[in-house]
Amino acid sequence: MSSAATSTTYVLRGARPLGGEPVDLVLADGVVAEIAPTGGSAAGRRAGDDVVVVDATDLVALPGLVDLHTHLREPGREDAETIESGTRAAAAGGFTAVHAMANTTPVADTAGVVEQVWRIGRDAGWVDVHPVGAVSVGLAGEQLAELGAMADSAARVRVFSDDGKCVSDPILMRRALEYVKAFDGVVAQHAQEPRLTEGAQMNEGVVSAELGLAGWPAVAEEAIIARDVLLAEHVGSRLHVCHLSTAGSVEIVRWAKGRGIDVTAEVTPHHLILTDDLARGYDPTFKVNPPLRTAADVEAVRAGLADGTIDIVATDHAPHPVEDKDCEWAAAAFGMTGLETALAVVQETMVDTGRLTWADVARVLSANPARIGRIDTGPTAQGRPLEVGEPANVTLVDPAARRVVDGSTQATASVNTPFQGRELPGRVVATFLRGRATVLDGAPVEEVRA
Ligand SMILES: [Zn+2]
Repeated sequence: MSSAATSTTYVLRGARPLGGEPVDLVLADGVVAEIAPTGGSAAGRRAGDDVVVVDATDLVALPGLVDLHTHLREPGREDAETIESGTRAAAAGGFTAVHAMANTTPVADTAGVVEQVWRIGRDAGWVDVHPVGAVSVGLAGEQLAELGAMADSAARVRVFSDDGKCVSDPILMRRALEYVKAFDGVVAQHAQEPRLTEGAQMNEGVVSAELGLAGWPAVAEEAIIARDVLLAEHVGSRLHVCHLSTAGSVEIVRWAKGRGIDVTAEVTPHHLILTDDLARGYDPTFKVNPPLRTAADVEAVRAGLADGTIDIVATDHAPHPVEDKDCEWAAAAFGMTGLETALAVVQETMVDTGRLTWADVARVLSANPARIGRIDTGPTAQGRPLEVGEPANVTLVDPAARRVVDGSTQATASVNTPFQGRELPGRVVATFLRGRATVLDGAPVEEVRA
């Protein structure tokens, strides 16, 4: 990146770190340089530098958000999203790092592909892009991919997943769990028993019976999670459960943690707020994998996130071009966008309801995902506390703002947001990546490129 871009000093005047008392947060030379009493001489002391004072009165300062589960679609489906558009959307949503899922074309199952994704992400400059490596060659679920080569590559892969598909073969799953121990990696499982979900279109329950759509039973998710936590215990490895969606899944993870098994779990914003009732309109915008569940499941995942059973919120941002979603339900692709609405949904469901503090939000949307992805150390560390000397990855959010979501004005290249026309709280005002503004006044900073 150019020295001109990094020499600017930002004084975030009156910002409230983690929702606490207002301070002046000074970002200089890529780090949090000073945390001073607000309205004092912090800006003056920096005179001579290129100093920009940002009025952050009443804004909550969070460590830059980290997404463990993003689909950037490049290479292969640039009609849905590119690394450039997806990471711009991430910055707009308050993120400073994303993990890019491996189900691209070609699949990210070699050192060559993960390095390509990593380089394009770095050159785009919006957020740090950490490629996820495929567990199996071509996501075919048969042969282990080159996990070691991807770990040793410039992309330094630590998270491995066949996401979109489940590693259903228990022998392959066991080998993957054993293999990643060598470099402190983690297997992130998309828990979906394939035989129990053949042709499945939505959650199996009252609504699917009424609509006559093939159902996707909770047990198809829970059976894989139960198997995998036992496998992780057996081989002494680290397991991450992607987008857990049922009350039973929460119970299994809670049991596993109580037993000391090294398992972490994520929930998506949409599973925190939407239910399978939405399928009644046959609008494929609401078709997603895993499917939207019942109100009881929504309550269970909220409770699991509140009590720490669920470690993180991850977006599962899944952009699709209009032609793949604007069709009949059965033919439509699974997935919905999420990078630009994730923080708002967490605020609505968890903060404004009193179940999480802003400090908790920093934990589930920054510190924990960074730690699970092993990107929390070194010069490009993410998920660090807002303290002097730490990398200046900062998100400023206005919790009092309200906005009506409009997919056509978002930075993502796709419009399949499930929140179209819905009013949500909060607005990301600014995002800083190692002291460089990627978003200011709520808009991406276009000269972000190196
Ligand atoms: Zn998935």
